[in-house]
Amino acid sequence: MKVAVVGAGITGLAAGYEAVKAGAEVVVYEAADRAGGRILTSELAGRPVDEGPDAFLARVPGALGLCRELGLDANLVSPTQRAAFVYSRGALRELPQPNVLGVPLDFDSLAASGIISAPGVARARQEPDLDGPALVGDESVGGLVRRRLGDEVAERLVDPLIGGINASSMDNLSVQAAVPRLAEAAAHGPSLVRWLRRLVASPGADPGAPVFYTLPGGLGGLAKELGDRLGDRLRLSSPVSDLNHLDADRVIITVPAARAGRLVAPLSETAAGLLGSIRYASVVLVTLAFDARAVKHPLAGSGFLVPAVEGLSITACSWASSKWAHLASPNTVIMRVSLGRYGDNELLYLSDEALLGVVMSDLETTMGLNATPQHVRISRWEHSLPQYFPGHLELVTTIEQALSKDAPWVQVTGAWARGLGIPACIHQGRQAALAATNGAPGPR
Ligand SMILES: Cc1cc2nc3c(=O)[nH]c(=O)nc-3n(C[C@H](O)[C@H](O)[C@H](O)COP(=O)(O)OP(=O)(O)OC[C@H]3O[C@@H](n4cnc5c(N)ncnc54)[C@H](O)[C@@H]3O)c2cc1C
Repeated sequence: MKVAVVGAGITGLAAGYEAVKAGAEVVVYEAADRAGGRILTSELAGRPVDEGPDAFLARVPGALGLCRELGLDANLVSPTQRAAFVYSRGALRELPQPNVLGVPLDFDSLAASGIISAPGVARARQEPDLDGPALVGDESVGGLVRRRLGDEVAERLVDPLIGGINASSMDNLSVQAAVPRLAEAAAHGPSLVRWLRRLVASPGADPGAPVFYTLPGGLGGLAKELGDRLGDRLRLSSPVSDLNHLDADRVIITVPAARAGRLVAPLSETAAGLLGSIRYASVVLVTLAFDARAVKHPLAGSGFLVPAVEGLSITACSWASSKWAHLASPNTVIMRVSLGRYGDNELLYLSDEALLGVVMSDLETTMGLNATPQHVRISRWEHSLPQYFPGHLELVTTIEQALSKDAPWVQVTGAWARGLGIPACIHQGRQAALAATNGAPGPR
């Protein structure tokens, strides 16, 4: 069985790895001169600092399992700080505990946090006893959370977290595709809080267990390990523009949706059209290193989120050198600042100087920081985060069905499909490879 994989982001690397394991003859084609896609680690202030993703969720299977298989698990590290903050109502305030995906499970702790107003807390307190339908099908995260817990919890806790991860607004985001855990709670409804409280109190739940993992040399190490294992089966600087030129029995396409659409256009008009309809957000990550003496604000946490309703440009700031022991130094503070939401590409095209000005102004507002960074790195990630609108999973199923009918030897998957986090991408890549090497979905 000859398998060609198009794209060597984490999805394509995982697909290639799995197909080799299954005994296939594999070639992974990558357009760029490096593997990893959105995963990229480079040096800043003498430290390996990620330019894109900096950690993966421990809870979602996929990444941890693969690291174990690759023998990387002994090296994995998790954040040294568990506290996280939200910039709300003029100050940085600690996220109330416990919470799941920003949904507060203890309303006294929510009140004490000061993140939302007293009427907002009173509205949220009604949730466990509020009547309403259980979730059937899909709806937006915003629709669900606003209805259950009120606008303030939705806008100042859930949106900064879930909207932030997806560079989206919760009001556009499919609860089923983007936050399956919340969809599961809502399906057991009506109360999200009651279900989530039961979940965190269940015997298997360990509140002290690590939530995130990374590699001390940065996540680039994971892409490198997979690339090394592929060896000369990985062809860099090899963009694919025509599937008919590939000498393969099965093709797995793992490139962003619009490009995947163009590749399958000669084979399946339906799949191509739907792939082309998937939208992306662009984001910018500005990494800064400061002389530690210049940063007066306490950094006892992993960083902070900024709700869209606060009207600032930055969406989050990770106190990277506090969050990760391997980035800590007595002399230098490293921060990773995120900007960009779906529909707002303006920041992406600002000059470096203007962008830095925007970031420093927002850091002054949120942290009272007024210092000149010693090092600045700007990573622009254009069209990098696929947007899962309500009904997204049905759209993905329709794409898959159209392709399995029109070109059964081709599969399409990746961050745009059924999960954009690294664990989900790994899972999807491996599943596609297993299907291909098992002879499914069908011959060329
Ligand atoms: C700034 C940022 C921060 C993030 N943070 C996190 C995080 O902390 N944790 C987390 O779990 N997830 C995070 N994510 C999400 C996650 O990193 C991505 O969803 C995931 O890495 C995407 O992997 P992929 O392989 O599907 O796609 P990509 O990484 O986009 O890879 C696709 C590859 O295909 C190649 N390609 C394109 N066209 C062709 C062609 N014609 N021929 C051959 N190759 C081609 C591209 O060059 C690229 O290498 C983040 C994303 C971004 C942008």
